[in-house]
Amino acid sequence: MNSETTISTAILKYKEELPRKVTLVAVSKTKPNEAIMEAYNAGQRVFGENKIQDMVAKWEVLPKDIEWHMIGHVQRNKVKYMAPFVSLIHGVDSLKLLKEIDKQANKNNRIINCLLQVHIAQESTKFGFDHSEIRALMESDELSGLSNIVIQGLMGMATFTHDQEQVRAEFESLNNLFTALKDTPETPNFKPHILSMGMSGDYQLAIDCGSNMVRIGSSIFGARNYS
Ligand SMILES: *Cc1c(COP(=O)(O)O)cnc(C)c1O
Repeated sequence: MNSETTISTAILKYKEELPRKVTLVAVSKTKPNEAIMEAYNAGQRVFGENKIQDMVAKWEVLPKDIEWHMIGHVQRNKVKYMAPFVSLIHGVDSLKLLKEIDKQANKNNRIINCLLQVHIAQESTKFGFDHSEIRALMESDELSGLSNIVIQGLMGMATFTHDQEQVRAEFESLNNLFTALKDTPETPNFKPHILSMGMSGDYQLAIDCGSNMVRIGSSIFGARNYS
């Protein structure tokens, strides 16, 4: 099989296999536009990138009905480049960043949808809030003043390990936080209903643990070559 049929076959397989409530984010980082178009032609419309410059370059030339998700770590000074079009920012990990997103969204006359990244892994390198910081943020007056963002839910990445029990425990802890937040009253800019967790290697476990948005790259597009 050439890569073309591989990509579209994978998309069709996921569309069939994933429960209806689960959104597939096809993670196209490092992959060329041709690969994205193969997935697009198989019906995929939601793509995830982890570098703002790359996402902007792809957005400029690819079909405008693609929904672009920023799944990587976001530097505040680059928010302005994606503010005109980004459809969901998964990796929001500070109030400062949220304020910058709000400011740039306002300049573009838009509302920008965000997920708060929660630190669930044991590795210290993964970004994110811890549970108590999320609660503090929710209760802060500063959040209620941000009228051009809507927090749509939470995102997390499990530890990179073969220990399935550990991964499950991390996903469950995130789902517990998500469930608790869903039970609190919504505010205009806090409407938690998306739980983004699970990648190529652990998405089934993530769905078992309550995920409704999976971010899948290598098992659709093949292994990545980082140069
Ligand atoms: C790269 C990446 C993915 C996709 O990983 P695969 O293992 O290739 O499916 C998912 N989420 C984030 C945040 C990523 O950076």
